[in-house]
Amino acid sequence: MNPDIRNDATALKGRSGQMDIDRIKADFPILKQPVNGHRLVYLDNAATSQKPKQVIDAIVKYYNESNANIHRGLHTLAEKATSAYENVRVHAARFIGGVDNSEVIFTSGTTESINTIARTWGEKNIRSGDEIVITEMEHHANLVPWLVLSQNTGATLRRISLTPDGQLDLTNINDIITARTRLVAVAHMSNVLGTINPVADIAELAHRRGAIVLVDGAQAAPHMPVDIKQTGADFYAFSAHKMLGPTGVGVLWGRKTLLEDIPPFTTGGEMIREVRFDRVTWNDVPHKFEAGTPNIAGVIAFDRALSYLEELGMENIRSHEIELSGYAINRLLELDGIEIQGPLDPHLRGGAISFTDAKIHPHDISTFLDSRGIAIRAGHHCAQPLMRTMGKVATARASLYIYNDRMDIDALIDALKETRRYFGV
Ligand code: PMP
Repeated sequence: MNPDIRNDATALKGRSGQMDIDRIKADFPILKQPVNGHRLVYLDNAATSQKPKQVIDAIVKYYNESNANIHRGLHTLAEKATSAYENVRVHAARFIGGVDNSEVIFTSGTTESINTIARTWGEKNIRSGDEIVITEMEHHANLVPWLVLSQNTGATLRRISLTPDGQLDLTNINDIITARTRLVAVAHMSNVLGTINPVADIAELAHRRGAIVLVDGAQAAPHMPVDIKQTGADFYAFSAHKMLGPTGVGVLWGRKTLLEDIPPFTTGGEMIREVRFDRVTWNDVPHKFEAGTPNIAGVIAFDRALSYLEELGMENIRSHEIELSGYAINRLLELDGIEIQGPLDPHLRGGAISFTDAKIHPHDISTFLDSRGIAIRAGHHCAQPLMRTMGKVATARASLYIYNDRMDIDALIDALKETRRYFGV
């Protein structure tokens, strides 16, 4: 391990072993910038996280010192870039619970990871009459690829509905996941409701019925310890940009036997073993799924993001978010007319907190908060079917991460009170 990182981490954890939020904030240059004349309070982490200087520096260092294309050159820079890139694969495999390195595929993000499986495993295995099961809380990234696949193949898309407090309603699960089910696609943590889903239980049932399971980990991997083997998933997808890393980098993990069995998604350079004018054979996994030049700088900088999270400790990050979500939920509920979507118990959820005000549109809330330097998200959060299920056109969403503290929540609550005064509510 790099000694610089170890020193940083000791400081980041503070004397009590808790996370030292002031020290963490200091690592994020963007947070020093005032927005609309106010201290920036960044509460849009479910959309993307901010980047610590360690990650930003790694991008600059890569271009200054090692830029070359990977896997194909025999010169020094090419070897340097290739070994740095491949080391991140090893690191990512360790981060998700110590899986086989060759099961880790770098993609551009969760969306591409899920599309890869829908277009390869899906097209190979799904036939008319088969059933694909999703849940009512899925992000479009884990819904549209399955909708399109079912439309193209004549399969049926079924869904697990929700309880009134935004958890999966598993009472009739045996009628939904049946012998006709070929695949269950489920979010580990909802980007709208914050709900943490019992993916291991769902996977166990799916496997008993002979189905495979894809878990959308875009919101879980950044915020809680994830041991992929314990999730029971056959495929697991997440994005670097929501966990301190650069945009344009994602991970698709898959069981090796499945990955070996399915055809590639994108074809071209790097993913082949041999090409003739009349035939082609594929490279081994994971390279079979990494055609063309990847986001080399992004992957290499993602290494520092993983180190940063590991040094804080994913258990500590989860504890911090349980504490802060509980505080935020209690403070939001002090306000008249505010309704929170999703579970209220912070142990059942992550820090993406969606809420609505009985009298003010979420877009107006977001615009007003922005004038006070507070960044939240308002809209359908790429989950239009969920909005319809909840009977909402949109929600406001404050979503937390490692650099948020009670001061940020207090600023949010004060500004929400001000919003209500401004709109005469
Ligand atoms: N799934 C969930 C639950 C998400 O929150 C997101 C991002 N908002 C995605 C998938 C898609 O991730 P990306 O845009 O990085 O591909």
